[in-house]
Amino acid sequence: MGTVPATRAPLPDHASVVVIGGGVIGTSIAFHLAEAGVRDVLLLERGDLAGGSTSKAAGGVRAQFSDVVNIELGARSLLAFEQFAQHPGAEIDLHQVGYLFLHTDAASAAAAEEAVRLQHSLGVATQLLTAAQARELSPAADVSDVLLATFHPRDGYCSPESVVLGYASAARRLGATIRTGVEVLAIESSGGHITGVETSAGMVRTSAVICAAGAWSRAVGDMVGVDLPVDPLRRQILVTEPLSESLLALFPATTPLTIDVGSSFYLHREGPGVLFGMSYQQETHGFRTTYSEDWYPDLIEAIERRCPSLLDVGVAHRWAGLYEDTPDHNALIGEATEVGRFLYATGFSGHGFLMGPAVGEVVRDLWLERESIVDVHTLDARRFAEGNALIEHHIV
Ligand SMILES: Cc1cc2nc3c(=O)[nH]c(=O)nc-3n(C[C@H](O)[C@H](O)[C@H](O)COP(=O)(O)OP(=O)(O)OC[C@H]3O[C@@H](n4cnc5c(N)ncnc54)[C@H](O)[C@@H]3O)c2cc1C
Repeated sequence: MGTVPATRAPLPDHASVVVIGGGVIGTSIAFHLAEAGVRDVLLLERGDLAGGSTSKAAGGVRAQFSDVVNIELGARSLLAFEQFAQHPGAEIDLHQVGYLFLHTDAASAAAAEEAVRLQHSLGVATQLLTAAQARELSPAADVSDVLLATFHPRDGYCSPESVVLGYASAARRLGATIRTGVEVLAIESSGGHITGVETSAGMVRTSAVICAAGAWSRAVGDMVGVDLPVDPLRRQILVTEPLSESLLALFPATTPLTIDVGSSFYLHREGPGVLFGMSYQQETHGFRTTYSEDWYPDLIEAIERRCPSLLDVGVAHRWAGLYEDTPDHNALIGEATEVGRFLYATGFSGHGFLMGPAVGEVVRDLWLERESIVDVHTLDARRFAEGNALIEHHIV
C-alpha cells in the first residue's frame, strides 16, 4: 500500500521532528503529534506505508497481559480501536470477538489467575472460564486437557493496513508531511544535540528524531550511539481456503482469537477462512522473510492436538514477517540520554500492532515533556544494563 508518486515535491529542508518508520507506531506518533499542534512533523518511510511488520501482523488486539504497563497500553489502545471511526476517522474492520487463552498446565493456569486479578484492578473485565465454557466459544478447539481459560470479550482483531492508512491520512490532514520511498541514512549531531538527518532524498535539518523503525531499529540507534537491543525474528502465518458448510459450524464468525498457550498456536476467522500461526521455537534471529516450511512438523503437531479439523482445509495464502525482538520480549519506549531529543518506540516483540494507538499518545507526551497517559518508565531501553528486564507471561 502507499504508492510512490511519479513526480515528487522536494523534501522539506527543515522539520521540528523526524519520525523514522511508516508502520503502525510511526504513523500513530505522527498523527498524535500533529493533532497536539506540533508543526512541521515529518515522517520518513523507506518503503511503503505499513510495508514492514505491520502488514504481516495477524491483527490481534487485546488488553490481556500480566504486567501493568502492557495491560494499560493494550486497554488504552482497545478503546482507541473501538472509537477509530470517529477518531481519527477510518473503518478498520474491528471484530470484537474476544481473545481466548487456553491453559493446560498448572503453573500457567495459576499465572493466568493472578494476571486476571491484576487486569480486574486496572478495569479490564477478563473472565475465567472452564474448559467446557471455552469450547462453547471456540467449538473447533479440543479442550480435553484444558485446565482453565481466560476470555476478554472486548479483545479481537482488525485490519493493520486500515489503521496505518487511517493515521497517515489524518496526520496529513493535520499538516504532517509523510514521505515514502525515503530512507534515513544517517543522523547528524553536534555537541550532544541532533542537527539533522541525511536521507536518500537529501538533508533535512531537525533537532529531534523519533525511532519507530521496528525490526530495523538497532541500526537507527547506532546512528546516534544509542543501544536499541532489537533483533529481527521471522514469524509465519497461513490463511485457509473458504470453509465448507460443515466447518463453518465449528468456526462460527463469533470464534474468539483462540490461543493454545502451551504451544503458542493461535487462530482467528479471516474472511471466509481461518488465519493461524504459532511461534516456531527453532527460529533464530535474522532478516529472513522468505516463507519456509521448516516449522510444519511443530505446527502440525500443535494443530492435531488443539484443532484437528483445521487439517481438513486447504491453504490459500501464507506469508512471513518479522517480530522486532528484545531480550525480555517487551517494548522499548523512552528518550535517550546519549544525545538530546532522540526518542524511540520499538521492540514490541510481536505485540506492537495492538499497542500502536496508545504508544502514539505516550510518545507525543514524551516529546512534549508532559506527564504521559501511561507511565512507561519500565520500558526504558536502559533497563537491561540496570538488570531490570520486564517479565510478561502473555506473549505469543
Ligand atoms: C507474523 C506476525 C504476526 C503478528 N501478529 C500480531 C498481532 O496479532 N498483534 C500485534 O499486536 N502484533 C502482531 N505482530 C507484531 C506487529 O506486526 C509489530 O509489532 C508491529 O507491526 C510493529 O510496528 P512498527 O511500526 O514498530 O514496525 P514496522 O511496521 O515494521 O514499521 C517500521 C518501518 O520502518 C521503516 N524503516 C526502517 N528503517 C528505516 C530507515 N532507515 N529509513 C526509513 N524507514 C525505515 C521500515 O521500512 C518499516 O516500514 C505480528 C508480527 C508478525 C511478523
